[in-house]
Amino acid sequence: NLSVKLDKAFKNLKGQGRITEINVATTVKEIRRALIDADVNFKVAKDLTDTIKEKALGQDVLIAVSPGQLLTKIVSEELTNLMGGKSEDINLKGDPNVILISGLQGSGKTTFSGKLARHLKAQNRNVLLVACDIYRPAAIDQLKVLGEQIEVDVYAEPENKDALKIAKNALKYAKENNKKTIIVDTAGRLAVDEQMMNEIERLKKELNPAETLFVVDSMTGQDAVNTAKTFNDRLNFDGVVLTKLDGDTRGGAALTIRKVVDKPIKFISAGEKMDALDIFHPDRMANRILGMGDVVSLVEKAQNTFDEEEAKRIQKKIRKNQFGFDDFLSQLEQIKKMGNLKDLMGMIPGVGKAIKDIDIDDDSLKPIEAIIKSMTLKEREEPELLNGSRKQRIANGSGTSIQEVNQLLKQFEQMRKMMKTMNKMGGAKRALSGMN
Ligand code: GDP
Ligand code: MG
Repeated sequence: NLSVKLDKAFKNLKGQGRITEINVATTVKEIRRALIDADVNFKVAKDLTDTIKEKALGQDVLIAVSPGQLLTKIVSEELTNLMGGKSEDINLKGDPNVILISGLQGSGKTTFSGKLARHLKAQNRNVLLVACDIYRPAAIDQLKVLGEQIEVDVYAEPENKDALKIAKNALKYAKENNKKTIIVDTAGRLAVDEQMMNEIERLKKELNPAETLFVVDSMTGQDAVNTAKTFNDRLNFDGVVLTKLDGDTRGGAALTIRKVVDKPIKFISAGEKMDALDIFHPDRMANRILGMGDVVSLVEKAQNTFDEEEAKRIQKKIRKNQFGFDDFLSQLEQIKKMGNLKDLMGMIPGVGKAIKDIDIDDDSLKPIEAIIKSMTLKEREEPELLNGSRKQRIANGSGTSIQEVNQLLKQFEQMRKMMKTMNKMGGAKRALSGMN
């Protein structure tokens, strides 16, 4: 499924701590393939991965955790955006207000009608269910059984073969019986056909519903998208209900529907029972698709730990070619708070290559810290000042050797050169996008 495939795509990045070494293009291609395999249509998947790539390359690398986690977070945010960003309520204006339920046969309309009635009844609304599926006698019984179960009145005329007349009569009945919310369950077909479309279109004109919902089986993949488009072209519905998310569903269709018809998904259902109804939350869905909720929160935690102000201050110094040992020390301290040392170090522009051959753990940083702390503030700003006697003093003070001091100075000089080159090239962002 999608989350397994995405996981695989992210695995490409594992162990690749240095962002300068990530092949973002390959990873993005993997993500795109995973999305397409999961029924996201090609154009949607391409747009999405283009955005992801752009964002990944433009990210402020100083406040990131590891490339894989960074990308996970970006993918999750983009999926959320693609699905509308936030949840959306149904419109309950009008007295009575009418909710019209549309969709193919078997999509779950009747079941959803019952669930919605239960949901609204719990909000103290006086609800009436209306049985307008006149083609199958069993359909009326099905709704009646559900109505009894949830203790909501069901309006039906088993002998009447005119859905429009039944709907009109139901409206009258509602007014006489003080029903405030009317949910109209309609007939579907196994595939889109003209008679069904006509009927639902006329019902919509006649009832002037506050809310027209389109119910779709999330397990039908790309077909679900085509059906949604056909229904929306004719009905201009207000929202989508995704059913059967408890099955082995391919979540991709959900993403595409939102994008193709540009209508919000409002409810999801994951089960046949009356209480299996949820308001749709794009962020939760995105995390569910990714199956990586833990990773996402980890990234957020780490971002909070890292002092963003400090990061900005240091970036500014890097841009002005003023990066000194003090800044280096401050970065080391920030990074140590987050753990995952080498990955993080590698994300500081210019540091990646300098530390490539060093085996870094907390202990290996101690001599470096000791050396820097033995320098005067002026020496930290201007390492050029360090002559033989100053180096000897620092080695003595930090309990290291002149060789170790020299090695650090050399690495630091390399790092500063790298930063200068990057600045000339137009900053870290362009250096990164030039990679692939
Ligand atoms: P309709 O023809 O559109 O009215 O569809 P129904 O409401 O009769 O549902 C068709 C079948 O799908 C029934 O067996 C329902 O119990 C089942 N169903 C509906 N919603 C869900 C769901 O969210 N999960 C599962 N597993 N089954 C569902
Ligand atoms: Mg039905």
